[in-house]
Amino acid sequence: PPGSRTKARVTAIPGDGIGPEVMRATRQVLDAAGARLEWEEALAGAEAFRRGIASGAPRETLDSIERNGVALKGPLETPVGYGETSANVALRKTFEMYGNIRPVRELPGIRTPFSGRGIDFVVVRENVEDLYAGIEYMQTPGVALGLKLITEPGCERIVGLAAALAAAEGRRKVTVATKANIMKLTEGMLKRVGERVLMEHPALQHEHMIVDNCAHQMVIRPEQFDVVVMTNMNGDILSDLAAGLVGGLGVAPSANLGDRVAMFEAVHGSAPQIAGKGLANPTALLLSSLMMLRHIGDFATARRVEHALYVTLEEGRELTGDIAREGPGASTGAFVDRVIANLG
Ligand code: ATP
Ligand code: MG
Repeated sequence: PPGSRTKARVTAIPGDGIGPEVMRATRQVLDAAGARLEWEEALAGAEAFRRGIASGAPRETLDSIERNGVALKGPLETPVGYGETSANVALRKTFEMYGNIRPVRELPGIRTPFSGRGIDFVVVRENVEDLYAGIEYMQTPGVALGLKLITEPGCERIVGLAAALAAAEGRRKVTVATKANIMKLTEGMLKRVGERVLMEHPALQHEHMIVDNCAHQMVIRPEQFDVVVMTNMNGDILSDLAAGLVGGLGVAPSANLGDRVAMFEAVHGSAPQIAGKGLANPTALLLSSLMMLRHIGDFATARRVEHALYVTLEEGRELTGDIAREGPGASTGAFVDRVIANLG
């Protein structure tokens, strides 16, 4: 609660590749801002597989997340020759994190072909069903079959989440984007449930859009969107497209929500080519950590860090290579120092 003196415990999973670097950077900024957090560091990913943990996520890590209910996570890798499924999938399934939230907002100082149009929407992606349920097999040696699994309760909770998020953020419109014209039962389920559930939210405008047109509209007139809800694979593809509209992977945050647990992470992967060189942009994880602070009710610190970050991006003096306006770009550490200096 605001003004509370007690620290919120958070599980911090540094992860692989550039993960430890962007995690350190994020924690430095939050600590400098005086966020009342107690970090509980936990292992997952490549090192866990190497230690023989088949899921890539050790028991202690799962217990820590379960206890704290909140986690900040770096990217996780499955090293070649180890598990079949990734540690990310193990975490998502263990805690039934069915909602993937990706805000798409124009940032100050990040120039893109779409700058100045006021892009500000949220993609809500269903994250446990659909073609990702993992039901895939060889029908005959030359024929592979994958099943698209969509349930009515699954649609109800993801549309419910989209509506709750819209209400909480004072947003007006929920777009349900589906391929219901072709997949009448599976994609059609989300369309029908969307119509029913959103009837119960008369304050919200509701529209249905065919997902291929939605992709087109996101590029042609992205400012029309407010909250867009989709099944898993459509959401996967369109949320990456949306991230590209506002500056790309280095600046794209996300949240994974379940009924008991919320896990915040950058959209990007482990980027092994630049790992360990001090080149990584920590903005995506820092923005994810601001979603986390708001989730636990620390709006004041979130606003303060956000302001310092925005000033730093706008100044453009010490930006990492992926977003630098000229030259090779600054180091992760120099960028962090600038953000901390801008905390005032
Ligand atoms: P993975 O297999 O774990 O997804 P990847 O090599 O695909 O790893 P991604 O994170 O998906 O890595 O990113 C692709 C490329 O985008 C990287 O190689 C890197 O050049 C760039 N990139 C991603 N995230 C960042 C970041 N935070 N800072 C700078 N560049 C980044
Ligand atoms: Mg990748």
